[in-house]
Amino acid sequence: MARTLITGGLVITAAEETPADVLVEDGKVVALARHGSQNWTAEQVFDASGRYVVPGGVDAHTHMEMPFGGTRASDTFATGTRAAAWGGTTTIVDFAVQTRGSSLRAGLDDWHAKADGNCAVDYAFHMIVSDVSEPVLRELPGLVGEGVTSFKLFMAYPGVFYSDDGQILRAMQRAADVGALTMVHAENGPAIDVLVEQALAKGETDPRHHGEVRRALLEAEATHRAIQLARVAGAPLYVVHVSAREALAELAAARDLGLPVFGETCPQYLFLSTDNLAEPGFEGAKYVCSTPLRPKEHQAALWRGLRTDDLQVVSTDHCPFCFKGQKELGLGDFSKIPNGLPGVEHRMDLLHQAVVEGRISRRRWIELACTAPARMFGLHPRKGTVAPGSDADLVIYDPHAVQTLSAATHHMNVDYSAYEGRTVTGRVETVLSRGEVLLDRGDYLGRPGHGAFLPRSACQYL
Ligand SMILES: [Zn+2]
Repeated sequence: MARTLITGGLVITAAEETPADVLVEDGKVVALARHGSQNWTAEQVFDASGRYVVPGGVDAHTHMEMPFGGTRASDTFATGTRAAAWGGTTTIVDFAVQTRGSSLRAGLDDWHAKADGNCAVDYAFHMIVSDVSEPVLRELPGLVGEGVTSFKLFMAYPGVFYSDDGQILRAMQRAADVGALTMVHAENGPAIDVLVEQALAKGETDPRHHGEVRRALLEAEATHRAIQLARVAGAPLYVVHVSAREALAELAAARDLGLPVFGETCPQYLFLSTDNLAEPGFEGAKYVCSTPLRPKEHQAALWRGLRTDDLQVVSTDHCPFCFKGQKELGLGDFSKIPNGLPGVEHRMDLLHQAVVEGRISRRRWIELACTAPARMFGLHPRKGTVAPGSDADLVIYDPHAVQTLSAATHHMNVDYSAYEGRTVTGRVETVLSRGEVLLDRGDYLGRPGHGAFLPRSACQYL
């Protein structure tokens, strides 16, 4: 029986902060007790005095090896989950993609093949439905039975992932019937495409125009429409990567009506802005993602939404493309810049920085980064908390260490950092996944294939 003991730390969950020793046995947390109050022995002991003991992060929005715009995201499941572990994230939920004209089954099998045997941390899948039809909708119950309990639809990207309102309504109805959660990328794609065409015709080709054509109003409009469609369908709704305060206002209004509507935002919308998109030369391409970065004024609204629970989850939408050779596909035409940012490694630290700055509490940090995503996507209490019976996915976190984020030191397979040179207070010191040590004081001990597929139950907020 393998026993590990973590002594002397402050255990932080979404619910409480407790000075406690944590005993781990056979990959599970088995007990917590007041410091030194038990005569526990273990093969392996970590002294967490002066540090936090927190649940491993749950990043509910990643795109490893995602094909986009004629290229693919530069992190594989092997490199991306390794980077996640370095950053204290021990579970990812990635998006399996249905290719148009093909089945959900084929898309899901494809994603299993990419991930199987390669992941350093545990993983689960959402399913992107890019071709809503009767035969495809008949596949939903089968996928739910396999633990893929959330489906993502796109109101953006006509011709690629886009579904029209009728398709979205139909998919929401069927998802609700089988107890699944519908996720929506809420931007008015057809209207954006008109603005893209007009901008390019005027010679507006720089990366900053990506942010200008993808108007906040078109995110808000699509968010409003998604909410009304979900109401009509009697379906719960989760809006991914909310970046505009006007879109957040739509979510807040829906929640005030008591509707089962949820929202996520991402660190890039909280810490970066259109100022980055407007960096000189082609530098702005590093910050091209959709929904786009917004002017700085939107950040305060997003932070407020995180405090008031109008936004419940912070995920990364990790979808890295190298500057050289990938982002450069859009030189001279911003619409050809692959959409996505690297971030899976930095979410826990950036949100801790928000704790340091007084924007959120420590418990809210853990709720947003670990507990709420685990509950939202049917992984709680196995993941997302520190409690007897939970997986021993544990992070010893040094809240005083200072580090500077940089491409020179990060572990993501991408040639730039969206946070280059930014100094943050707090750092992951030790990471356990199901009791196995993945990382300890700078030594990486993880391995591809440790990470296991997690079948998920239904959303636990419903
Ligand atoms: Zn995404």
